[in-house]
Amino acid sequence: MKYDVIILGGGPGGYVAAIKAAQMGGKVALIEKEALGGVCLNWGCIPTKALLKNARVYHDILRSEFYGIEGIEKDKIKVNWPQMLQRKDKVVKRLVMGVEGLMKKNGIDLYRGFGEVIDPQHVMVGNQQLECSKLILATGTKPMIPNIPGIKEAYEEGIILTSKELLSMERLPEAMVILGGGVIAVEFATLLNTLGVEVTLLQRSDRILSGTEEEMAKTLSKHLTDNGVKIITKADIKAIEGNHVKVVVNGEEVSFKGDRILLSLGTRPNMKGLERLALESNNRGIITNDKMETNIEGVYAIGDLNGKYMLAHVASAEGIVAASNAMGKAESLNYKIIPSCIYSFPEIASVGLTEEEARAQGYHVVVSKFPLSANGKALAEGESMGFVKVVADQKYGEILGTHIMAVHATDMISEAVISMELEGTAHDVARAIHPHPTLSEIVMEAAHGIMGKPIHF
Ligand SMILES: Cc1cc2nc3c(=O)[nH]c(=O)nc-3n(C[C@H](O)[C@H](O)[C@H](O)COP(=O)(O)OP(=O)(O)OC[C@H]3O[C@@H](n4cnc5c(N)ncnc54)[C@H](O)[C@@H]3O)c2cc1C
Repeated sequence: MKYDVIILGGGPGGYVAAIKAAQMGGKVALIEKEALGGVCLNWGCIPTKALLKNARVYHDILRSEFYGIEGIEKDKIKVNWPQMLQRKDKVVKRLVMGVEGLMKKNGIDLYRGFGEVIDPQHVMVGNQQLECSKLILATGTKPMIPNIPGIKEAYEEGIILTSKELLSMERLPEAMVILGGGVIAVEFATLLNTLGVEVTLLQRSDRILSGTEEEMAKTLSKHLTDNGVKIITKADIKAIEGNHVKVVVNGEEVSFKGDRILLSLGTRPNMKGLERLALESNNRGIITNDKMETNIEGVYAIGDLNGKYMLAHVASAEGIVAASNAMGKAESLNYKIIPSCIYSFPEIASVGLTEEEARAQGYHVVVSKFPLSANGKALAEGESMGFVKVVADQKYGEILGTHIMAVHATDMISEAVISMELEGTAHDVARAIHPHPTLSEIVMEAAHGIMGKPIHF
């Protein structure tokens, strides 16, 4: 069978690329070995957010008296983990079915099986050979299991889990040690801590969320600690012995025990099936330019596989760019405006430069901060923890970055993304009338602060 475009991997990178190429009139094949929707729909973005919602409801019920609701016998309230998993599975199933439907509606031929690339124009799936003009690689990544003594054994015994296994574990452990302090580690720490699990988080560097705006990362770290999460920084993991993690902290050997240990130390690109292509890669993934082209003509690499950003929305955006280029339209991706989100309580969402990054790039920086505690909707909802920081260039007030820590921050960041996409200034944002009462008013207030003063602070 001959196709205009073959896409290997049906995650948010691959399936979106398939739809785009089909919409542009291409004859398209998508090959998926496991589950349509990839990590994001099945074991990542969506299942974690479904469970975080369960945790949030539990948390809110426990503080029902704050909202004037009496009569809830707190000692009778229990977390039913299997039922939480069932709800999560239902959500996942519905979305995966939706993607299947989209494949059919767009006339995409879906091949279920492991795809092995023979050369840039040929891919084997089982015993079928498919031919194409252009090939888009979207095989994602898999969890990295570092070379630490005892780790492989503990993984085989089921003591160490990756996020995939955690999302189907039969019962909640009493204590969980999390190896790593990145976004995924923090989201699981939030989830498990809220559900009553004793959580210890071991982070190698001197703070968690090293890629996040520093004041927000520190505020969240303190908040997690205040809620009982044990955060150990500068922890150098030396060995796993059964369910103990041996670490060296400030030159001292310490051991942490968990019923389970979550591995969240990063991922490695899925290169299996791509070996016959002489693809240029580095330790993050396959090297591509901003058109998603690899070093081999007619072969594109998108999503986690190219290691630029490990985010589903980036994978999808790259999928659209790669599909457009494969179908003969020149497109590229602007990596300066990539939102990133942390679904902690409260959430953190960012786009663009931090103050430090902007200064390092030579901008004359103005920073305006506005607290949630001065926002009517936040107070009305009893969710006043957090703040927004807008980073702008002094000359014209051009917005260089926006960082929001707030409940629903992840839904609010898109305003900042669009402002930056349109090369908007703080004047534009301040002048744009924001509805009242909304949390989004904090962004408008911070924009006023860039030019002078916020109105309500
Ligand atoms: C716990 C967790 C939470 C996350 N939360 C978020 C979040 O909230 N927001 C966010 O933006 N990102 C989140 N991510 C990251 C997000 O899941 C990834 O960035 C995204 O899935 C990458 O998409 P992709 O299409 O590049 O790869 P993947 O989703 O990994 O898909 C790759 C697909 O390729 C298939 N495949 C691989 N090799 C072959 C082969 N040879 N033949 C056939 N098929 C093959 C795989 O089976 C897989 O389905 C999270 C990740 C995890 C682990």
